[in-house]
Amino acid sequence: MRALALLLLTFPAWAAPDLARTRASGKDFAAFQDGLALAAKVQPELFPNGIQGIDAILYDARYLYLYSRRKDLPFREVNRWHGYHVYRLSYKGKPTMREWGGCRGGGGSFIEKGGLRGRLHDNYLECAPLSAFIRVQRVKKGSIYTTRESYLATIVHEVAHQYQDQLSTYDRPAPLDELIAKVDSIVPGSSDLGARSIREAYAEWCELAVSEKRFREHFKNMLARADTASQDPHDIGMRAVRAVWKEKRPAP
Ligand SMILES: [Zn+2]
Repeated sequence: MRALALLLLTFPAWAAPDLARTRASGKDFAAFQDGLALAAKVQPELFPNGIQGIDAILYDARYLYLYSRRKDLPFREVNRWHGYHVYRLSYKGKPTMREWGGCRGGGGSFIEKGGLRGRLHDNYLECAPLSAFIRVQRVKKGSIYTTRESYLATIVHEVAHQYQDQLSTYDRPAPLDELIAKVDSIVPGSSDLGARSIREAYAEWCELAVSEKRFREHFKNMLARADTASQDPHDIGMRAVRAVWKEKRPAP
């Protein structure tokens, strides 16, 4: 009985979608690019020091599609888009269910799977195609990431992490100081959980800011998430964001 409960608590295998043959479709590329375009559009207000140095990878079951402003990479260039060179390369291994269901930043596994270490900008993000992302998120109980809009907002969230990482420690994006103080009142900022929550608070802030006018449903869902007492760094971060949102939110 106990083993069964454990199994159900992790990922219910019976419910996991079969994504072994997933290939990025035209709609998947459009969604990924719309996410990157959205991050570029809000750059003046959210990322004033620029995000040109951030590479991005879209992966499917067979290929990595690398979006980089570097024009000299030794891979097959299959497209150009908004100043990016788009390279396609095969890779070893396959995405995990967690990878099929999300996006993540620097230190992700596709840099290894694709033999890309040292060839990309240090700051990069990697994302599943929208279609896979939604299929996995729909199986997760209570996920608010089951829409195209939430996928675009997620890409901005990941860009925010990379943006923050490329700033010097003296260069603090607004309203990081307020968020740090708030997280500190929930969990000690000096603890590992506190440090991770501060990091998430900043990315959640950017995700919320980009959603406020464009993605109303997602915006409301994000704020509602701040009601939980969860100890997940995203949720702790979101509680800090909600607390400082009213006075510090970016000018519309
Ligand atoms: Zn994050």
